[in-house]
Amino acid sequence: MAKAENIIIIGGVAAGAAAATRLRRINEKATITIFEKSNYVSFANCGMPYYIGGEITNRQRILLNTADFFKDRFNIDVMVNHEVTAINRKDKTLAVTDLTSRSRKGREKTVKYDKLLIATGASHIVPEIDGIDSSNVFALRHILHMDKIKTFIETWRPEETVIVGAGYIGIELAEQLKRIGSEVTIVEKSDQILPPLDKEMASIVEEYLIDNEVTVIKDDALSELELEGEETFVARKVKLASGKELDSDMILLSLGVRPNVELAKDAKITIGETGAIKVNDKMQTSDPSIFAAGDVAESVHKVTGKNVWIPLAGPASFQGRVAGSVMGGKDAHYAGVTGTAIVRFNDIIAANSGVNEKQAKAAKLSFFVSYSHSQSHATYYPGAAIEHIKLIVEKKTGRLLGAQVVGYDGVDKTIDIFAATINSGGTVDDLVDLDLAYAPPYSSARSPVQMAGMIAQNRLRNIDAAISADDVIKKDYSVIDVRTQTEHDEDKIFEGSLSIPIDTLRDNIPISMKTKKVALLCRAGLRSYLAYRILKQAGFKDVKNINGGYLISRHILNDS
Ligand code: FAD
Repeated sequence: MAKAENIIIIGGVAAGAAAATRLRRINEKATITIFEKSNYVSFANCGMPYYIGGEITNRQRILLNTADFFKDRFNIDVMVNHEVTAINRKDKTLAVTDLTSRSRKGREKTVKYDKLLIATGASHIVPEIDGIDSSNVFALRHILHMDKIKTFIETWRPEETVIVGAGYIGIELAEQLKRIGSEVTIVEKSDQILPPLDKEMASIVEEYLIDNEVTVIKDDALSELELEGEETFVARKVKLASGKELDSDMILLSLGVRPNVELAKDAKITIGETGAIKVNDKMQTSDPSIFAAGDVAESVHKVTGKNVWIPLAGPASFQGRVAGSVMGGKDAHYAGVTGTAIVRFNDIIAANSGVNEKQAKAAKLSFFVSYSHSQSHATYYPGAAIEHIKLIVEKKTGRLLGAQVVGYDGVDKTIDIFAATINSGGTVDDLVDLDLAYAPPYSSARSPVQMAGMIAQNRLRNIDAAISADDVIKKDYSVIDVRTQTEHDEDKIFEGSLSIPIDTLRDNIPISMKTKKVALLCRAGLRSYLAYRILKQAGFKDVKNINGGYLISRHILNDS
């Protein structure tokens, strides 16, 4: 009989814990040990902002599981406060430090493995500036950080918080800090918040943040901290690269993360171009007896086919599951990622899946974009809210390459339908053909997903043609505004645009413009689509529908 294998897992959170438990379900005989350098195993990083803000009141709920639970339920040994400091591939051993032991002998151990999983995750980026270790400067990655932030808030009740970095976690923290009554300023180095979204979609969220009294500073970066105190410093002012100064009771760093690849690098395991560990679809590294999963590993992007590093909880958990299956002797493959993610600030929700426009260009994909603005459910039923949708669609095939949704209630459902389509390589035709659940409180007979699909389908089949707001100006198109006269008078956005409300257009076709370059504007793109069809059939040669209508164009023009 083959001897039971000794399988070691480094890191006990999403990827490590998923791998260990899957492995045990497959293989009762293996000896499974998790080394976790912190005091906690299998906790819910994603829940930490909500505990800080008080939406989750019971700290225990964030901790999920204990070492005892893993032993009792799964016969898995979890060694918390144990850091793996080296991998010796030649004799298949690990150097492990027991961080709680005071004796040098008891502290350092050598442990043998037959198979090894590196699930060491990622660490938050800390800028190298004086005072970054001040007592009121924090990042959030671990339970320890969460506890420190919570205690600081309860003790000092910060009135002014500066959040550096406007990614998903920065926005979540902004929401929670507003919730506890702090003023919030977000500083973002790039020219937009929420980098997974394209700029005009992120602008919708930014506008909402500003309306909800969050100060947003873009194109600027933390450069210096003004400190107070002698032994323990407090950073009282944040100085930005522009010279701007911000008062601060508390500073939260959310500048992104880096994969913890040092152990792998030292052991000469191949690191990919993204900086994370290169793995095959079985989550095996360049050493077949060593696996890697979660935030420390690369994956293949399902849309571009390229290796990417997208550190998110879902992929970490499923990569861990695949690694656990394969280490346990089963055939399993990780299918890749689409980067699907979602974030909320109060009522507004932003979500994305697949590639955005910047990524589609970088991957040299041939694509077009289309927008729609649907209501989350039947408009006659109370509580319907707008969903702004942007689709990135492959020109030749109609394959859905990416989707971004900004709206309110219902965005989570919408993005997941797009994500399912992107994951399966589906097209805009597939979106239209979906048979989805409908009753007035939940959706419409034509759901926001299908409306977005139909608009893109019309573009694909040349039943409609679109032009972006900036191209209208660059290419010198004459604009006909088919909104009502009142809407036109309130905000023309295109200087010199001609107002012909849609309901009067058939009787007022501007024949003199038949041979000119004409762009049509309405609020959301539907009335201008109808106008497009009228003018096209009246013989207009070069007529286009302004992509995304007024609702998107005003963001594009504001930003350009
Ligand atoms: P990690 O969670 O980083 O765990 C790795 C573990 O390895 C750590 O506990 C570490 O202590 C341990 N370790 C490292 N080196 C060693 C060593 N040498 N020896 C022993 N142990 C070691 N993702 C989402 O998809 N949705 C969200 O809403 C979301 N929200 C988030 C909110 C916050 C505040 C944070 C911080 C992250 C959030 N994420 C979210 C990301 C998600 O939490 C991570 O993608 C996920 O935790 C990755 O799991 P992992 O197991 O790969 O790594």
